[in-house]
Order: sequence, then structure tokens, then C-alpha cells
Amino acid sequence: ENDREVLTWQAFGDGMRTLAEHIYESGWMPDLVVAVARGGLLPAGALSYALGTKSIGTLNVEFYTDIAETLPEPVVLPPLMDTSALRGKKVLVVDDVADSGKTLQLVVDLVSKHGVVSADEEVVEVSEVRSAVIYEKSRSIVKPDYVLKKTDKWINFPWSTLPPVTDPNKVGA
Ligand code: 5GP
Repeated sequence: ENDREVLTWQAFGDGMRTLAEHIYESGWMPDLVVAVARGGLLPAGALSYALGTKSIGTLNVEFYTDIAETLPEPVVLPPLMDTSALRGKKVLVVDDVADSGKTLQLVVDLVSKHGVVSADEEVVEVSEVRSAVIYEKSRSIVKPDYVLKKTDKWINFPWSTLPPVTDPNKVGA
């Protein structure tokens, strides 16, 4: 299929190694990795091993369609990680793709808010947040700091191409 960008397991594995090298060569290394679940779980795990970063957290974000059928917006779902652990840390937010970019923007904003404010209201310690994705699409409202590949096609990721085993007639998503 020419209208699809297909990522194989092998290309995913090799690609995460390459992306980790890009991050290292940029002279910046994270203290902590935050995976945007579920799409960012596998890339975040692969990157955290390749970078040697042992601390990893997850934020579960899904697009939620309102009953009123307005524009779908991403929302953070439980269980919620304790983001106070991010304070003053260099945080790498990892997702599979920045498509509209709304999910990545939501998580980066949430993580960036954890500055330490002193008695005279001065921000003394802020989290430094960067983001990494496998794919960036041209319509994305945010520009991720680290990108493996650019595409405007629909991407088939190896972990979501097949339907759940409980529902073999369903199309994977
Ligand atoms: P956003 O539009 O907020 O950047 O992307 C939200 C989520 O939609 C992504 O994390 C990803 O899970 C899913 N998504 C967006 N574009 C694609 C795509 O081309 N292929 C697949 N499989 N999922 C996508």
C-alpha cells in the first residue's frame, strides 16, 4: 500500500537506536523519560534503554470525543503519575507521532508547569522539557525537538497493526 507508511519491528528497533544517538549528539541528556501512553510506551522504553536513563514515567492520554460532538481534544486519563517528581529535572517526553501535535503539546505543557517558586514568587527551579517522536507530520502545531522521520501518510505501527486477540475481525488501531 503506497498510501501508508509502514514501520516494521526491525526498523523501529534500529530507528530508536539512531534517535538516541541524535539526542546524545545534541549534548543534552534527560534525567527522566515520560512516555505518552499508549503510543509512546514502546518508543519510550526503547529510548530509555538506548540512552541509559532508568527513570521512566507514563501519562495516559487519549482523544476524547465530547457528547456535544465539538472538536475532539486529547485528555489525560487515570492512573495519573505524580508529576511533582519532575521538578527541576531534564525530562524527555516521548510519543509515537506528532500528528495534529495536540497530544504532545498537552503533555509538554503539563510537565513544564513544575517549577519551584520561592517565597518572593521567583521561579528558582524549572523542569527542562524536550520531546522526541518517531514521526512528525507537517500539520503538527508543535515542533518536537527530536524526530526520526517525517511523513504525511497514515502510519502503521508494528504494535497496533493487528487487532486485539479478543476481536480478530476488528481492524487494528
Ligand atoms: P496527535 O494528533 O495528538 O498528534 O496524535 C494523537 C495520537 O493519534 C498519536 O499519539 C497516535 O497514537 C495517533 N495517531 C496519529 N496519527 C497516526 C497515524 O498516522 N497512525 C497511527 N497508527 N496512529 C496515529
